[in-house]
Order: sequence, then structure tokens, then C-alpha cells
Amino acid sequence: MTAMDRHQQAYSYCSLCPKMCRFSCPVSEATQNETHSAWGKMTTAHLVQLGHRPLDESAAKAVHACTGCGRCTSFCKHENTVADALFEARESTIKNGTQPKGAASTLATFSQSQNPFGRELSSLVNGWRSDTPVRYPLFPGCSSLVKRRELIEDTVAVSTAFGAPMGVARVASRCCGYPLYAAGAVDAFREHARATAEVFAEVPELAVLDAGCAFTLKVVYPRVGVELKTRVRTVVEILEENLDHAPEKPPLDESVGYHDACHLGRGLGQYEPPRALLKRAVRDVHEAPSSRAEGGCSGGGGLLPRTMPDTAVEVARRQANEVGGAVVTACPTSKRMFERAGKTSFDLMSILRRWVENPK
Ligand code: SF4
Ligand code: SF4
Repeated sequence: MTAMDRHQQAYSYCSLCPKMCRFSCPVSEATQNETHSAWGKMTTAHLVQLGHRPLDESAAKAVHACTGCGRCTSFCKHENTVADALFEARESTIKNGTQPKGAASTLATFSQSQNPFGRELSSLVNGWRSDTPVRYPLFPGCSSLVKRRELIEDTVAVSTAFGAPMGVARVASRCCGYPLYAAGAVDAFREHARATAEVFAEVPELAVLDAGCAFTLKVVYPRVGVELKTRVRTVVEILEENLDHAPEKPPLDESVGYHDACHLGRGLGQYEPPRALLKRAVRDVHEAPSSRAEGGCSGGGGLLPRTMPDTAVEVARRQANEVGGAVVTACPTSKRMFERAGKTSFDLMSILRRWVENPK
């Protein structure tokens, strides 16, 4: 049985559906192409799975035109798990050589270095070793380790100010494996998850900064039969628990919009903790017309920035416009996408740090 065979019913539901969620997909909205709607992509997978159309480059491109945001599922009466079904359809493109170049190069890099950046992460983690004991071992995610040092600095400073000090954990040198999952490398992802569970076994609890990593560890690992012994929580949920210990400071005199990162919101159901933190830190927080479970996507997931880079940026541009003004997000990937779209954006941690360190 192939990975596609396991999702036969999901593909079938969509192919028979009168496109009830047609407005919901950020990719088809950005490309204005119905082939990229949830219905279009799932129907392509359905026809391929039945052997009614070949898995050629066009079909392969269609099943890769998904960020995994889960927005279509929010509007689906069947709660059809489109993202999972499309990601696993990608396995067949690896096997028959039709995988888009961007996804193939990500896999090649991962197989060489066990992360998508081709970097050796242990030395980066060792650079963060703390001399003082910390309450929460921090798992920043390899994206922040490699590209966003300041985000880790902000998180350490804010958590300390909240009386919940965090410090980068030794096990943070291991990538959660999300790129393998998103590329459809089903067997490699399962093996990576099993090995990660063994490495993590030495740590009873982790504070995870990147919502994509937290979603992978908490939601996707169990789908492939891997349960971590480690208690995984997001940094925002830990900080919200400790909000009463935060310094008594007036909010910053700023107005910002909040973007629900898909993995944090729809993926983990964490809509309120980031809002509670942000509302303490700034005077005014506004929302996009669609938010929480129906919120838009920043285009950074599902390897879309590697397979359809211009579309990914257009998705981010549209979502930033939906939110309006300066956009705050608790997801480093979303922040990077808004930057690439030329939009003013802030990490929640950077706002919190300015708030707790405000001399007023
Ligand atoms: S996800 Fe649900 S609503 Fe959307 S096309 Fe599929 S079955 Fe229809
Ligand atoms: S998960 Fe998101 S990107 Fe993928 S088909 Fe559904 S709405 Fe579109």
C-alpha cells in the first residue's frame, strides 16, 4: 500500500465535493488558478491514485501547491485532512522522479546534514550554553538557530523577565524533521521521528519556540506512531502561564495587527496565549476580518517557498494586507515571509522584550 492509498477516501470526498471551500485556499487565491484549490489538488491526487491520469510534472506540481495551512479543513463539513493527504501524495513524486526541484534539493540537503540548512547545528547550540541554571530547556528550531539569533536572545530575555528563565537545550541541535514530512518522505520522516524520540528521552520537558516544530512534535509524530516521552509546550503558552510574574509596565503606545500562525492556531489550538501576551504589551491590537480557525496563511509552510517562491510571497503579501498595518506573529517563518513580501512585521518576542525592558 502506498501513502496515497491510505488517503483514498480523503481524495474521493474532495473530488465529489461542489468545492465548498473554494474561497479558502491561500495558494489558489494567490495564483487565481482553480487547479490549486483544495478541490483541484485533491481531485488530481484522486485521479492519479485511481490510475486515471499519470503522475506527470503537472500533477506533481499540483500536489506540492499546498502550504499545509489547514484553512480548507476549517471550512469542510467532513473536516477532510487535505494537507496530510497532499503531503503524503508527494511520496509518489519522489519515487517516480517528478518531485519539483525545490523539494528535491531540500531533501538532498536534509539527507546530508539532518536539517534543511546544510549547517552543523551542534556548534550553534553550544554557543548558547548557559552558565546559570534555567527552568525551561528551550528548543528554538533550526530556522531560528541558523537565521534568527536575535529571536533567541529576545526569548531568553523575556522568559527571564517573566520569572521563567529559558536556555537553549543541548538536544536543540536536532531538527524536528518537518521538511521530510512536508516533502512526502514518509519513511524517512518516521525514522527521523523515532530517532528524535530517543535523543529527546533525556529531557523531561521542552519549551518550543517555533510553532512548526511544536506542531510536528506534538501532532505529526503521533500520526506516524511516535509518541515522545518529553512534554512539549510552546514558549507562548509557558509565558502566558507566567504573565502574572511579568514586570508591571504600561503597554507600549503602539497599534499592531495579530497574525495567527497556522501551526500555532489551527495546528495546536493556541489562539489566546499569544493574544493575551500581546494585549499586555501594546495599547491596541487589531485583527484581520478572518482570524483564529479561519485566519489566513503567510505562505511559509509545506515547502511552498522552495517549490513556488513567487506564489509563497504573494500569499504573504495578501495576508499582511488582510491584517493591515504592522503585523505581529509568533512564528519565525511567518515573520520571514512578511519580510520577503516587503511588509512591516514583528516577532511577538521582540515586542515583549521592548515592553519588559521599557524604562517607563
Ligand atoms: S476540503 Fe472539504 S469542502 Fe474542501 S473540497 Fe474537500 S471535501 Fe470539499
Ligand atoms: S491546507 Fe491550506 S494550502 Fe493546502 S489546500 Fe488546504 S487551504 Fe490550500
